Amino acid sequence: MKQVVHHRGTEHTEKTLVAFLCVLCVSVVFSVWVQAQARYEQTRAAMGTEFTIVAYGDDEARLESAVNRAFDLIQQLGRRWSNRLPQSELSDVNRRAAREAVSVPDDLLELLETSLRYSRQTGGAFDITVGPLVAAWGFVQGTGRIPGPPELAEARARSGWRKLRLDPAARTVSFATPGMQLDLGGIGKGYALDRAGSLLLQSDVTRALLTAGASSILALGPPPGANGWSVEIRDPVDREKSAARWDLSGSSLSTSANYEKFFRAGGRLYGHIMDPRTGYPAQGTLSVSVVAATATESDALSTAAFVMGKQGTLRYLQSHPGIRVFLCSESGCEWLAANAPTVP
Ligand code: ADP
Ligand code: MG
Repeated sequence: MKQVVHHRGTEHTEKTLVAFLCVLCVSVVFSVWVQAQARYEQTRAAMGTEFTIVAYGDDEARLESAVNRAFDLIQQLGRRWSNRLPQSELSDVNRRAAREAVSVPDDLLELLETSLRYSRQTGGAFDITVGPLVAAWGFVQGTGRIPGPPELAEARARSGWRKLRLDPAARTVSFATPGMQLDLGGIGKGYALDRAGSLLLQSDVTRALLTAGASSILALGPPPGANGWSVEIRDPVDREKSAARWDLSGSSLSTSANYEKFFRAGGRLYGHIMDPRTGYPAQGTLSVSVVAATATESDALSTAAFVMGKQGTLRYLQSHPGIRVFLCSESGCEWLAANAPTVP
């Protein structure tokens, strides 16, 4: 009996030792793997801002060539869909679409369809036909100015998402009113990140973070040894301070803020995000960050939520609970909960 007890004790000790050695072995192998992962980072200018890609993988040369291809794609989209370069595909559409149905490539048609879907879902808060309003408020070339009433009325008459006509069968775009101007500034950077992210995944780069200036961040898989990419949301009042932190993995975060581009007049601040329903720069919100599955979605919805404000965004969340929204106004910053009561 004594022997049996003794034997069981030895067996127990051996099992514990084996388990300990296994755990040690796995953690050594894991930390060797973490340290052996190459890190590659590159920054390039595109779409009026700086894009950065950080990627991890076994082989630095392969990371570099995949990241180079992703950047080439981002810069190509930036050139095609700039509304400042007169020779761009978008400028061509803007010049011709009031006179004729203009044939466009599949990716542009798809992005225009997606934009109209967000316009419908947000009650027109997101609207890529704001080009004439953005220009009237002086945000295209200059730093902003208040337009006179006739100029504002004219700009309003030349915008409105219902005046943008897409023909998916003919793959064409046309405008119902002359003088319309499409502006992809509220969705293009997010879309470019999604396309670049897909290209990286196709090249087997699965651990990467793609950033478009202060606008949008897209995370593929997490960096080695972590559960996600820890990203900070800046406090719009004191941008040295962090207002919130979020772990991103396989998802995206975009921020829309007044402090990006604005001017002051008569004691008021006028920012670059238009409320298409009034024709004025949206008031009341300081910054909004949206976490969503894709960067196209987070980019469009951060712009829309900035316009909708807290109550409008809460109403949107009732029927779209899959996204997270962090909103800052004069009264402070908060995560908006999908099931919070809304004011009718
Ligand atoms: P950022 O350019 O810093 O990423 P946003 O994503 O919020 O900021 O996009 C703002 C830009 O989108 C503006 O500079 C303008 O070009 C365009 N825009 C302005 N108002 C709207 C709107 N209501 N809907 C869609 N795009 C808009
Ligand atoms: Mg946006």
